[in-house]
Amino acid sequence: MRIVLCGPPGCGKGTQAERLTGQFGIPRLTTGEMLRRAVQAGTPVGQVAQGYMHRGALVPDPVIIDLMRERMTDPDCRGGYILDGFPRNRTQAEACDRMLKAARERVDHVVFFDVPEEEILRRLTGRRECRQCGATFHMTFQPPQQAGRCDRCGAELCQRDDDREETIQRRLAVYREATTPLMEYYGRQGVLRRVSGVGTPETVFATVCSLITRA
Ligand code: AMP
Repeated sequence: MRIVLCGPPGCGKGTQAERLTGQFGIPRLTTGEMLRRAVQAGTPVGQVAQGYMHRGALVPDPVIIDLMRERMTDPDCRGGYILDGFPRNRTQAEACDRMLKAARERVDHVVFFDVPEEEILRRLTGRRECRQCGATFHMTFQPPQQAGRCDRCGAELCQRDDDREETIQRRLAVYREATTPLMEYYGRQGVLRRVSGVGTPETVFATVCSLITRA
């Protein structure tokens, strides 16, 4: 099964991707996380990506497409995967379709999460993450047991560099302009599943699962 998760920043697709990975036993390919790791490690991809990410802009398509082409052909992806954060615009969606077609595969479901912008701002400004193990927390909605420390590995929690209000606004604008046209693109392919991303992670997950298994 090949599932694409789309939605504005902070819509909860990372959380849902993690749950879907557990449910279907397929890996999640999270572009944002892959890029943040590349930046931290100072790889050539990281060096290109850093400035774009800092500004809340999309990293150039050829960089992302090459990164994903490589990752999607790894042995653990043979039985399917969850694409979390890719494709993000029409060029990437077409490249993704071409890559899958070459392997006689297709995207089965594209889940779009709808979350109002005021809610996005509340979620993102309070979001904290562990740079060591990738766990995420929220200062109000999901605080760690010990302030500023990861429950899972004990490392210090940080605010993402691009979770500042000005960058969030830019990321939302990029989402509206570049990513929302994909609803029409995938709607035409008959694989679009729209879900409200408002609610507890459990209720959102239940809706996603029912749409996927019913379709
Ligand atoms: P995310 O964690 O999904 O919010 O992604 C963080 C940042 O990584 C984005 O604001 C972009 O700068 C970059 N990024 C992630 N996925 C992509 C993509 N598919 N295409 C271009 N840039 C991306």
